[in-house]
Amino acid sequence: MYPSQTIQAMAVSPGIAIGRVMRMRSGSRLQEPESVHIDESEVEAEIKRYDAALDVTRQQLKELRSEVKDKLHSAEADIFDAHLLLVDDHALRSEVEAGIRGRRESAESALYAAVEKFGAVFKTMKDEYLRERAADIDDVASRIFDNLADIVRGDIDLDGRRVIIARDLSPSETARLDSKKVLGFAVVTGSATSHTAILARSMQLPALVGLPPELPDQLTAGDKVIVDGYSGKLIVNPDSRTEEAYRLRAEQADKLYGELQREKNLRPETTDGFMVQLAANLESVEQAAEARSSGACGVGLFRTEYLFMNREDFPDEEEQFEVYKQLLVANEDDPVTVRTLDVGGDKLNSTVYRSTERNPFLGLRGIRLCLHERPDIFRTQLRALLRAGVFGNLRVMLPMISSVREVVEVRRIVAELQEELRVEGREFVPHLSLGIMVETPAAAVIAHKFAPLVDFFSLGTNDLVQYTMAIDRGNERVAYLYRLSHPAILELIRRTVEAARANNIWVGVCGQMASDPFMIPLLVGLGVHELSMAPGAVAVVRRVVRSISMYEAERAADAALDCSNASDALAISSELLKQKAPELTGMRQ
Ligand code: PEP
Ligand code: MG
Repeated sequence: MYPSQTIQAMAVSPGIAIGRVMRMRSGSRLQEPESVHIDESEVEAEIKRYDAALDVTRQQLKELRSEVKDKLHSAEADIFDAHLLLVDDHALRSEVEAGIRGRRESAESALYAAVEKFGAVFKTMKDEYLRERAADIDDVASRIFDNLADIVRGDIDLDGRRVIIARDLSPSETARLDSKKVLGFAVVTGSATSHTAILARSMQLPALVGLPPELPDQLTAGDKVIVDGYSGKLIVNPDSRTEEAYRLRAEQADKLYGELQREKNLRPETTDGFMVQLAANLESVEQAAEARSSGACGVGLFRTEYLFMNREDFPDEEEQFEVYKQLLVANEDDPVTVRTLDVGGDKLNSTVYRSTERNPFLGLRGIRLCLHERPDIFRTQLRALLRAGVFGNLRVMLPMISSVREVVEVRRIVAELQEELRVEGREFVPHLSLGIMVETPAAAVIAHKFAPLVDFFSLGTNDLVQYTMAIDRGNERVAYLYRLSHPAILELIRRTVEAARANNIWVGVCGQMASDPFMIPLLVGLGVHELSMAPGAVAVVRRVVRSISMYEAERAADAALDCSNASDALAISSELLKQKAPELTGMRQ
């Protein structure tokens, strides 16, 4: 068991999770386990543990098989049939049992020895097909290993929810996590605005990034951890007093959330009567109901790239049309802002795009990819949107815009598609509300050139900070430079709002900044019209907006713009928050 200690990492999704560890390894290969000898009295329990791991493995493989069958063809699913045969293989099972009973080895050591023995036989075979079976054995065995790691001696309860500890979780792995089995997670790589963290917030899972790199290999399923998604601490094997204190804090936070939830029908306006729209950021249409019940008014950002993830094919026009229509109908007349495909960066998706770029965040991402590499996908998406738009209040938003030409080109394509749909006799929206994400410094600096061409701006502060500060938003080593209150960021927001005002269009913020209670006074004071965030954050943001006046917010924003560093600007905003809503200062989103 790992010694009791507190590790400082970085909080990326609020909340507290207390539970046993589940390790997740991406693409793990077999490694010789540490040799452990067991007592005679432990033999039966060890065999039971091995059998329990076999049960879990069997279940996982069956699920995988049916998942693959649904998405691909039965030929691919047959691989899992072969793997299932190995799980049920009597010779393998007897070999492991012999190791545990006869040599008093742990289940891991006995399995490793058995795999070596069987694998060696296959590896020397002449027939290529049979030689490849050695790889299947390795594959199945590493799955059994992982499952053994999660079944502690004397603890064969497989139903308990766990805290995931891993080196890395990709956005698609995170999207697949089953929230019924996961309490929260803590990983080595990433930052608050990596897409993995964004998903954690929208799944309302407390999460940390920035663990020491060696930690995932050192913790085992027997270790208990507390994820403090407010302060960024991971407490390993806490003493009972600490655990009790955290349970109490979690209860208090739940109580405050409950109280805030009851305010969900109150208008999100400042004490002197200025309305700020609160909208939801969604990654799937299934979240629409939750977003409505959180009190969000419409959708400020629908990240369509998740429709393209965890599958081998693309959603065609009809499938996308149905999704967008459902989303619009669910939101009645409230605005629904759909962002066109933003693949690239950390949202690499091999089906759309196989990146060989050295620096994908600065590469063919978002609108660049859509216009230059996959106009076919882009046109399909726009057609689906134009058709679905008749069912509600649709806005379409373009990601990663950096030059005016891109907008002109999109307008041209939209006009062409509208004509195509007219000729086909289909219904479509004749006046598409089209906006851009302001998330590159270039777009913010020349916002006044974009404003006459578009219907709205939405500040993508996650990327705006990344590109302005020249730091990879997923790199924990430069995360200390990731400061939302940096005067350069505030200045770019000011310019964007000013250009929008001069051209009578509205500005929203859909990056993480929109849900940070410490940043809201500044955003309100700078004059943004809409804040869009993960549904779970709406209640806190509403309370902040309702606690301050526009007069105070404007004064804070002016003073922050005058600061020469991020800390001074943050101090001004924090001071206002502390005065007006002290109960929220511990609730950083
Ligand atoms: C942003 O960049 O702020 C944003 C909202 O988009 P994403 O996080 O999906 O890049
Ligand atoms: Mg972005």
